[in-house]
Amino acid sequence: MAAELLAGGPVADAVLGEVAERVERLKAVGITPGLATILVGDDPASAGYVRRKHETCAEVGLSSINLEIPADAGQAALEAAIDELNANPEVDAYLIQLPLPDGFDFAAALARVDPAKDADGLHPTNLGRLVLQEPGPVPCTPAGIQAMLDHYGVEIAGAHVVVVGRGPTLGRPLALMLSNRGGGGDAAVTVVHSRVPDLADHTRRADIVVGAVGVPGFVTPEMVRPGAVVISGGITWEGRKLLPDVNESVGEVASWITPRLGGVGPTTVAMLLRNTVAAAESRQV
Ligand code: NAP
Repeated sequence: MAAELLAGGPVADAVLGEVAERVERLKAVGITPGLATILVGDDPASAGYVRRKHETCAEVGLSSINLEIPADAGQAALEAAIDELNANPEVDAYLIQLPLPDGFDFAAALARVDPAKDADGLHPTNLGRLVLQEPGPVPCTPAGIQAMLDHYGVEIAGAHVVVVGRGPTLGRPLALMLSNRGGGGDAAVTVVHSRVPDLADHTRRADIVVGAVGVPGFVTPEMVRPGAVVISGGITWEGRKLLPDVNESVGEVASWITPRLGGVGPTTVAMLLRNTVAAAESRQV
């Protein structure tokens, strides 16, 4: 069996189409939604991600700025940038591009971000809202995965989803979103991680398997029930090559699989812009 591809591009286009309409409505009342990024250091992959985010903003009519901080500038410089963006009325939402170089404390930086301007949906207040199912910005990669399943008609409600990885940006929030009550949720979710023995016993029982690990090729065909849907959320850069968590040969047993390129990534950017527009809408009244 050759799996069908869960391509992120069409999903991102659909989300961005909706974002563009919302931007138009905001512009009609004199508001141009603005996103900012903070890029610390000179990691080429991070710089590439930031560039893509700004290009996408330009495509759908958002304004955007980038603040660059040298890798050796220290935590105080990062916190000064955060204070500046918290105070800037033209910035509706912003993010700190990850990973930060050694010597920076992301948790402390994130705690300083105004939760209303948290483009990534990772601030503790917003993760708390997610737990409580209250409105607020949601983590972008998990939201992109949820939108992808919905777009391709993969039934989430009642499905057994196994998320491999319990990290704060991907595995843990995704498990919350898919098990929350109502639209895009209602799944039975199992979260597995490095302390779980015989991990494949769990993944083989899943209707949907999500790699949220950050280990190339971690999910192999033996770990997947024939016909399951398999998503690679975790990625690793090896030089300029992007390596997904899911081994390509899983495509021989799965019914749907994310492609090596153009999977979850484009949907993550689309969700970032959706969070930003929602933040701009909240200053309308
Ligand atoms: P993280 O904090 O790096 O955590 C990784 C998780 O994987 C941990 O729960 C860890 O288990 C588990 N793990 C690592 N090695 C394992 C092994 N050998 N067996 C079983 N479990 C193992 O996670 P994160 O920040 O949520 O990110 C996860 C991945 O998502 C990364 O690759 C990141 O690049 C990717 N990501 C992608 C996007 C995107 O746009 N596509 C966005 C955000 C993140 P323990 O908890 O037991 O240590």
